[in-house]
Order: sequence, then C-alpha cells, then structure tokens
Amino acid sequence: MAKQKMLQFVSVARDMPEKRAPNLRNKDFGEIYAEFATQKAEEQASRCSQCGVPYCQSHCPLHNNIPDWLNMTATGRLREAYELSQETNTFPEICGRICPQDRLCEGNCVIEQSGHGTVTIGAVEKYITDTAFEEGWVKPIRPAVERDESVGIIGAGPGGLAAADMLRRAGIQVTVYDRYDRGGGLLTYGIPGFKLEKDIVMKRMDQLEDGGVQFRLNCNVGDDITFSAIRGAHDAVLIATGVYKTRDLQGPGSNADGIVRAIDYLTASNRVSFGDTVEEYESGELNASGKNVVVIGGGDTAMDCVRTAVRQGAESVKCLYRRDRANMPGSQREVANAEEEGVEFVWLSAPKGFTGDKVDGVMVQKMRLGQPDATGRQVPELIEGADYVEKADLVVKALGFEPEDLPTLWGEPELEVTRWGTIKADFRTHATSMDGVYAVGDIVRGASLVVWAIRDGREAAQAMLERFEQRSAMVAAE
Ligand code: FAD
Ligand code: SF4
Ligand code: SF4
Repeated sequence: MAKQKMLQFVSVARDMPEKRAPNLRNKDFGEIYAEFATQKAEEQASRCSQCGVPYCQSHCPLHNNIPDWLNMTATGRLREAYELSQETNTFPEICGRICPQDRLCEGNCVIEQSGHGTVTIGAVEKYITDTAFEEGWVKPIRPAVERDESVGIIGAGPGGLAAADMLRRAGIQVTVYDRYDRGGGLLTYGIPGFKLEKDIVMKRMDQLEDGGVQFRLNCNVGDDITFSAIRGAHDAVLIATGVYKTRDLQGPGSNADGIVRAIDYLTASNRVSFGDTVEEYESGELNASGKNVVVIGGGDTAMDCVRTAVRQGAESVKCLYRRDRANMPGSQREVANAEEEGVEFVWLSAPKGFTGDKVDGVMVQKMRLGQPDATGRQVPELIEGADYVEKADLVVKALGFEPEDLPTLWGEPELEVTRWGTIKADFRTHATSMDGVYAVGDIVRGASLVVWAIRDGREAAQAMLERFEQRSAMVAAE
C-alpha cells in the first residue's frame, strides 16, 4: 500500500526553519529565519491533517486554501502550490514572513489545539513563493487587454499595492501616488529588515512597475497635488494612506530632547539599511548606538524598536509597558525573540515624566492590574509610593498611531469619517461617502495588519472592476 503522505503530525514534530543565534543576528538587519530546505518543507507540510473544516483557512483574512497548498507542497507539486497560493494572496511571501500567525492561521490549527504543535503554515507559504521567484514561475503582469478606465491610488502600502496589482492585471490604467521616495508604505519604512528584508518588497515594486503601474513618488497629496485634481484625473480613486499620527506622552519633560517617535526612529533605521545618508542618524538623534534606550509601549511597533536599538549597538534596551506579558498586544513570538536578543521588559510600568533637558531618565510609576473594563481587559492601576527613575539617553514613543484628519487636510468635508477619524467605508466594497472614491487598510480599520490591508485592497479592486463593467454595459445598451 502506498505510504500516506499527509497526517504525519503524530510521527513528525513541528519544526521551524533554523533561527540564527541571538549573538549573531543581533548585529545586523538580515532576517532571523533561514529558508526551509525542500525536504524540510515537504516534511513539515505533510504534518497537516487535511481537515474537512479547516480552521486555519477560516482564520486567515484572505481565506487562503491552506490545506490544498500544504498537500501540494508535501507531494512535490510546488508549482501548483504556488499557482493556488497566489490566487488568494497578492504577496504570499510577505504574509508568510510577517503575519502574526500565532493569532491567525497557526493559532487555530487543530493539531495545535490537540497538543501536537501547529503546522508551520507561514514558513511553508514563504517557501512556496520564494521558490517560485527563484524558479522563474512568477510571471510579469501582462494584461490580455488594455482598458480606458483609470484609477488613482493614494498610498503605496500593501493596501494600495494589492489593489494596483489586481486592477492592472485586468488592464486598468493605474497611477499610485505616494509621499515617500520609495513604495511599500510600512513594509518599506516601518517594518525592520530582520522581519522583512527590503529586497522582497522592492521585487514586488519592480514587478508592478514593469507591468505598467505608474508611480508618482515624492508626491504628498494635499501639498504637491490636490485630492480633487486626482479625482478629476481618474475614473475612480482609492485612498490607502495608512495611519501615521503618533499617540503622544504627557507629563513633565515630555518635550525634552532625546524623546523621539517610533515611526521617525524606524524610518531612519530602514533608510540607513537602504544605504541612504540620514542626517538625524548621523547626528545621533535617531541612533541608539552606545545609549541606554527605553521604548514605551507593548505592541509590535515597540518590539521592532527595541530590536532595532539592540542592532544599532545600544548599551542597554528596556521596554516599559503598563500591563503584564499576558496582556500585551504585541506578538508573544516577537517578545521571545527580543528577550533572546537581550531586551529587558519592565512590566506593569508607566511613564510619569522625564528628567533632564536632554533626557537622562524616565520617571516610572509601578502599576497593578485591577478590574476588567467594558472590553474585558483588566485596567492598570497605580501603586502609590513605588515610583523610581529609569536611566535613559534615548526614549522611543511607541504608543500607537491615529489617523490624520484627511477631510480637513485635503479640504474635502464630504469625505465622511468615523468618530475615531478613520474613513467610513462599506465593509465589502470599500466605497466611501464620495462617489467613485474607495478606501482601504489602516486609514479605515485603524492600525491593523498587512494581511487585512491586502484583503481590503483586493476587494476594493474587485468592486471597482464591477463598477466599470456595469458602466460599460449601460453604455453598450444605450
Ligand atoms: P501603509 O503601509 O501605512 O501605507 C500607506 C502609504 O500611504 C505610505 O506609503 C504613505 O507614505 C502614503 N501616504 C500617506 N499619506 C499620504 C499622502 N497625503 N499623500 C501621498 N501618500 C501618502 N503588520 C503585520 O501584519 N505584521 C507586522 O509584523 C507588522 N509590523 C509592523 C511594524 C510597525 C513598526 C508598524 C508601524 C506597523 C506594523 N504592522 C505590521 C502593521 C502594518 O504595517 C499596517 O497594518 C499596514 O502596512 C497597513 O497598510 P496600508 O496600505 O493601509 O498603509
Ligand atoms: Fe497565515 Fe497570514 Fe498566510 Fe493567511 S496570509 S495563511 S494568516 S500567514
Ligand atoms: Fe492542516 Fe491545521 Fe489547517 Fe487542519 S487546521 S487543515 S491540520 S493546517
């Protein structure tokens, strides 16, 4: 009888691709995980039990056909696995690297629930498309027909790029406007190279450009061009501008030199990795080298900042968070990686203020967790008389992001927003209150995830294509 290829989870243990040793990886910005070797990828994919109702798939925002591409990988049909994987995901190699799989697909894998350790879905997804690039299976974008309709996309992050890809493949004329000098949004300037190497993102930018997507970079909508000019130049517009307004710190000394915003700190570091000369990095303002660094916040941005500071050669790196480990929003896997690399977490601690004109310390208040609030999360409460000063030469604020006030900035009061300032958009079509204007990603959801931005971008592109089809049908009927 032929050997059963799948359901190997009982005899084959879960294994991730090799992770570089902390004392080696903490000196550079290369990714920390190696690639699976072919045999290892096949073996790990074969652990899947091919569930009839795959919870991994229902918890993947893109509803990737995970069981089928695992089966194809396990049985050596890698090209088919690639074809299937890219049908539902515009950037599988990116999601495979940076999705918080422990909260999405892998966290809901049934063999994880039964104590065998999840199938390493993300690592296999990355392996499939990395191999497809190496083997030349990833074909250039060449639409079968060129169409007259044009779409203007504001924002070259994952939401905007996913829409650009889908629209261009359908022959639509696409122009992407972005205020940065490189595309990719937070994939390029937010997320550090040790999670996502930059050539992975640039490869996708090249593919889109080669496929006929026009990029107008260094173009800040609202300054260099008006929103209404973009609207007038295209049949439809997609807003995919993300959220960049940093939540701020209050308290004495909070404007001192040496207290910086996470986005500025990470952008500078990413630019340096590209080989750019960054004045604020050279001057030491946005450079942790030799410093005692305190990062304030407990989300993924904070994790990226502490790990960046380690790589820049900080003297010490501490992360201050007002709740405890179990209640932090950041991925537990990233916390473990940071700890391995030498970061110290100071739980149940909040900043009260700062000492020094040029910051030299954080005044820390100790907290305990009290009763849950309306959302069910325990509220941090102050412990009186337990304050102390934590030494710091560089403080990074990583408390989250809020939307910019686009209706005001762009002089478009008709563009409706929610009470949080995010753009109001239909959850399926992503249409906004303005005719022919759509919005996706963080500017609609608030700070979220790459995989959700991709899903939104794909859905908005589909809605625009349907709109164009309906319009063509009406014209033909006249
Ligand atoms: P963005 O990626 O923010 O792109 C928006 C683009 O719009 C930018 O290029 C910006 O320059 C441009 N833009 C904005 N305003 C204008 C304007 N007026 N004119 C022209 N262009 C404009 N998610 C994960 O899934 N995994 C992670 O590991 C992860 N790590 C993260 C780490 C950090 C430090 C941060 C900040 C976020 C992280 N996220 C992560 C979240 C993820 O990056 C975002 O959810 C995602 O990038 C949102 O995509 P987007 O397309 O909506 O916006
Ligand atoms: Fe998992 Fe993200 Fe891939 Fe979906 S896209 S299968 S959630 S890694
Ligand atoms: Fe395979 Fe796990 Fe998905 Fe089931 S839940 S199909 S075992 S990956």
